[in-house]
Amino acid sequence: MKAKVDRETCIGCELCVTICPEVFEMDEEQIAIVIATPVPSDVEDEAREAEENCPTGAISIEE
Ligand code: SF4
Repeated sequence: MKAKVDRETCIGCELCVTICPEVFEMDEEQIAIVIATPVPSDVEDEAREAEENCPTGAISIEE
């Protein structure tokens, strides 16, 4: 599984980092970036939860 963040759509709310810090981190521009590719199997549920809860739909998941 791979996660992606659309930089144009991310509003920097940090929710994904709160939900799944193993995969998401804020960069110096306060935009979320993916720090774990592929997503570690033990946090796949959390990565999906981040995708589902991102307020702008900036996160996409590829199985
Ligand atoms: S939850 Fe979505 S909008 Fe918020 S920081 Fe993460 S990718 Fe950006």
